[in-house]
Amino acid sequence: MVEHMKINAPDFILKISPYRPGKPLEELEREYGISNSIKLASNENPLGPSPKAAAAMAAAIQNLHRYPDGSGYYLVRKLAEKLKVSWERLVLGNGSDDVIGLLTRAFLVPGDEAVMPVPAFLMYEIFVRSVGAAPVMVPLRNHGIDLEAMLEKITDKTRMVFLTQPNNPTGTAISKADFEKFLKLAPPNLMIIVDEAYIEFMRDPQGLESLAYIDKDDRVVTLRTFSKAYGLAGIRIGYGVMAAEIAKILQRIRQPFNANSLAQVAAVAALDDQAFLQKTIAVVHQGLDFLYAEMQRLHIPFHPSQANFFMIDLGRPADEVFEKMLLQGVIVRSMSSYGYPTCIRVSVGLPEENVRFVQALEKVLAMAGT
Ligand SMILES: *Cc1c(COP(=O)(O)O)cnc(C)c1O
Repeated sequence: MVEHMKINAPDFILKISPYRPGKPLEELEREYGISNSIKLASNENPLGPSPKAAAAMAAAIQNLHRYPDGSGYYLVRKLAEKLKVSWERLVLGNGSDDVIGLLTRAFLVPGDEAVMPVPAFLMYEIFVRSVGAAPVMVPLRNHGIDLEAMLEKITDKTRMVFLTQPNNPTGTAISKADFEKFLKLAPPNLMIIVDEAYIEFMRDPQGLESLAYIDKDDRVVTLRTFSKAYGLAGIRIGYGVMAAEIAKILQRIRQPFNANSLAQVAAVAALDDQAFLQKTIAVVHQGLDFLYAEMQRLHIPFHPSQANFFMIDLGRPADEVFEKMLLQGVIVRSMSSYGYPTCIRVSVGLPEENVRFVQALEKVLAMAGT
């Protein structure tokens, strides 16, 4: 900052390390002199957006001179019907990220604490710090969220806890039984936020779906998104399901147009596109099974995943593997900044993309120096 700058942000803001967005694909390709690269780095839907959603958006472009429907009337009612919850429990967001921001702004003040797993989705920490509250980080155990350790970290300053189901980046799932134990032992004033960005991909029948607890327990807040299984990450639409009283508070501070008009029509159409959803889930599950078998063939340790990505341990610096994979035109995510210096996370792609990933990986692992 220049010397005479008198405008200062509070210390708690300056403590936030900025989210570092990846470079655009085109930029990476130019930099590395590659083309036809495939991106298996951000857990996006390899099939693209739901075709019904795409058609609905194309039609809605004609109305872009109008402000969006600030109540999200059709989407909220459609979700309420599909999820079998009262519409008053729903809050839409500009992605589910936005709902996390609303929850932290409405319910945390400086000095409060929020307990979260580490490594985890970076936005929990960023939003908690941005209101001057303190994140309390609880390491994973056996790559899964450690509910017992999280309970131990709860103090009289703790206002909320973040759980990711299934977990990113490890792909583990919390069981219903463990969650029920947690509910019994957690204090009555604790907001329990369950981020279910990947819930559609969960295969474990014992796995928790937190919506089942919403009616019985006012502490539970479920977050869902259209970014992954519905293929709508770019248009930004997600939602939270919660006690109607909590929803009412979020409505007070929500920007009236935080769910834009294309996002609203896209989400409504995507909910009607069950064929696309089923196809997405099948592509992901078949892709994971293929990739597991290939990892076994290559003797590479991996963690079975309940999401649309998985993590593998290459026993060598992940950042170097990432660079070399990139030169092969395959973009994955190094987990070094997440505390797994030898792991990469790979999003499941189309069958031919998964094959390309395996071929590139074999090549890279055969190179000297990695
Ligand atoms: C991708 C992802 C989300 C989705 O965020 P949106 O803002 O809805 O796109 C939320 N939580 C986790 C853990 C994710 O990985």
